Amino acid sequence: MVVVMTPDATDADIAHVVEKVEGVGGSAFVSKGVVRTIIGLVGDIDRFHGLNLRALPGVADVYRISDPFKMVSRQHHPERSTVWVGRDGHRVPIGPDSFTFIAGPCAVESKQQTIEAVEMAKAAGASIMRGGAFKPRTSPYAFQGLGVAGLEILSEVRDLTGLPVVTEVVDPKDVAVVAEHADMLQIGTRNMQNFGLLQAVGQSGKPVLLKRGMTATIEEWLMAAEYIAQRGNLDVVLCERGIRTFEPATRNTLDISAVPVVQAKSHLPIIVDPSHAAGIKELVVPLSRASIAVGADGVIVDVHANPEEALCDGPQALLGNELRALAQAVRQLPPAVGRVDARTLAHG
Ligand code: PEP
Ligand code: MN
Repeated sequence: MVVVMTPDATDADIAHVVEKVEGVGGSAFVSKGVVRTIIGLVGDIDRFHGLNLRALPGVADVYRISDPFKMVSRQHHPERSTVWVGRDGHRVPIGPDSFTFIAGPCAVESKQQTIEAVEMAKAAGASIMRGGAFKPRTSPYAFQGLGVAGLEILSEVRDLTGLPVVTEVVDPKDVAVVAEHADMLQIGTRNMQNFGLLQAVGQSGKPVLLKRGMTATIEEWLMAAEYIAQRGNLDVVLCERGIRTFEPATRNTLDISAVPVVQAKSHLPIIVDPSHAAGIKELVVPLSRASIAVGADGVIVDVHANPEEALCDGPQALLGNELRALAQAVRQLPPAVGRVDARTLAHG
């Protein structure tokens, strides 16, 4: 931390700051300039917070230099991490060397609909399947998902297709049953700061896909990841899914710069959800291309065999020409940015 003194701060004010810092076991390095004095602090930042330095006489400002998140920070872990998703001799990587294509229906509606969507996804090159059994809907009257019956369908479709499953959990009491059926637990945008839920998935023993809260800053998002890490689970993949802005042309505004910003701050992998960002299928392919180019570790995309009949998010689901264009993009573009298809690295 750095304490900046006001131009009229006295020697006594400076000595007072030094005394406070040393009083909690820290060291203070005073640097006197022509106009201002700054004091560099070394030691336990949490103890410095307790001193309320900003309120001391002669103090103009206090700046934090290191990040407030620790376990997910790249400052303490310079190598970027790879998270492995799957089980029983088949694990798929999400990390800096590969590109992971995740696809499937927004919601599990029936066994047939899930099989059709996942077969389409697999044929297009997906290595992990998605599908919601517990759906966090804005309206209490909207389809809420099939719950445990949906999880059972996901397990069956995994057995049929061999693709590991990522699915959302919305309630701490469901973490155990979701973990039984899923290979990766998704925390949705609406629950990014549901701290009890974050702690519960932190103790689940399963990798976690942590979506960015629709109004969360990158720092708040990484602090949410820290909650999971702090419970002993560092297998966290971040997912940029668009944020709320003044622009109504898209459902959310995809914050593409979040990808390199997060990669500079955190060692955790980061993927992009262009479907939930855009809300319209025509934008999914261009935003996927942009995600690959900017350096994302993967994308997660909605597909549906009959989007006009989908019970959730039909307008953003791909099939036909758009899905073919996406398959081509995820095949051709990652090698241009030095990544291999995650399927080629998958192993037990
Ligand atoms: C989803 O992926 O099914 C979903 C609900 O996404 P989000 O939480 O980003 O809205
Ligand atoms: Mn959805």
